[in-house]
Amino acid sequence: MRVLVINSGSSSLKYQVRDTDSNEIAANGLIERIGEGSGGPADHGEAMEDVAAVLEGVLTQKPLDAVGHRVVHGGERFSEPVLINNEITRAIERLNPLAPLHNPANVLGIRAITAKWPDLPQVAVFDTAFHRTLPEHAWRYAVPDSLYRQYGIRRYGFHGTSHEFVTGRAAALLGVPLDGFNAVVAHLGNGASLTAVQGGASIDTSMGFTPLEGLVMGTRSGDLDPSILIYLQRQGLSADEIDTMLNRESGLKALAGNNDMRAIVDAAEAGDRHARLALDVASYRLAKYIGGYHVAVGGAQALVFTAGIGENSAVFRALVVDRLGALGVKLDAGANLVRVTSPRVVSTADSAIPVLVVPTDEEQAIAEATAAIVLAS
Ligand code: ADP
Repeated sequence: MRVLVINSGSSSLKYQVRDTDSNEIAANGLIERIGEGSGGPADHGEAMEDVAAVLEGVLTQKPLDAVGHRVVHGGERFSEPVLINNEITRAIERLNPLAPLHNPANVLGIRAITAKWPDLPQVAVFDTAFHRTLPEHAWRYAVPDSLYRQYGIRRYGFHGTSHEFVTGRAAALLGVPLDGFNAVVAHLGNGASLTAVQGGASIDTSMGFTPLEGLVMGTRSGDLDPSILIYLQRQGLSADEIDTMLNRESGLKALAGNNDMRAIVDAAEAGDRHARLALDVASYRLAKYIGGYHVAVGGAQALVFTAGIGENSAVFRALVVDRLGALGVKLDAGANLVRVTSPRVVSTADSAIPVLVVPTDEEQAIAEATAAIVLAS
């Protein structure tokens, strides 16, 4: 099946045309600076028009069978991929307040495709869906119930498509049946989250009501004392200023002056104290979470690294695993340095559990989920 995969960020749109039988990528591209003026597309609807124009040649050879959309927030309603119709689009739109930067972009993309190719099946694949299995003791915040009932305040979790894909790959690599697989999965990109997997299902995850909670990320703070927000507001900062500060100006960028892991590692090796501190804060926070999730899953059978940093930064992996001595986890220094693009073990034979590097491919996962839904409908 030929599937167009659409992954909209707040001001960007990534697209790929995937053939799900051969797993070939027939076309891919990125449109940036959406809605930022200066001649670019005004919104995600216009950006979709641009994508359709670029793809014209590729699609005359072999037309599309379906479109798969990565949708960031599925709320409590969507626990798996769904075939899109008008009612589903409106339901995604009603979730806009929970993901104000992302879901409106998804809705515009869906509507643009409906207008252009009304007969083409479209499927929504939700970033929150893999975390539908969180038990209530993991998704509840210890706040008055009215916050949950009135505002939907609970842990949702994100990066689900990646965590699910990587979990499946890791179990296959180890030859363990998925429903008997316990693991701790670290998705470390510009955004970063950790998931506790038990019996192949997500039972806890570090991102919460929004993607701000949890680990130290490229530009996000991760966990902090909620009183800090109240204190800053009382000092006169606006909600928007605090939002921007914690989502765009914090994390590695705040500590090291940079959110590119390669540059931070280079600077740290050259003796930059701030870069060193950034690596220490981020690896320390992550190691604490790994210890916690090892307990949460009742003993993980593997620790899995994925995404830009997890797949490529041998230095950062080593900094994290070096802090896991109490768990008996040991990296193989040589294996950790090898650069390959397929799943692999990077721990020593006597490590208490294997450490894996498993490349993620959200587009492949979305294309496969889309094809499955369309075939079944
Ligand atoms: P996202 O999809 O969340 O934007 P990615 O998964 O692409 O992010 O990860 C981006 C991060 O990966 C950046 O911090 C970048 O520096 C890091 N990264 C990418 N390649 C390498 C590499 N070869 N070595 C170290 N870090 C890398």
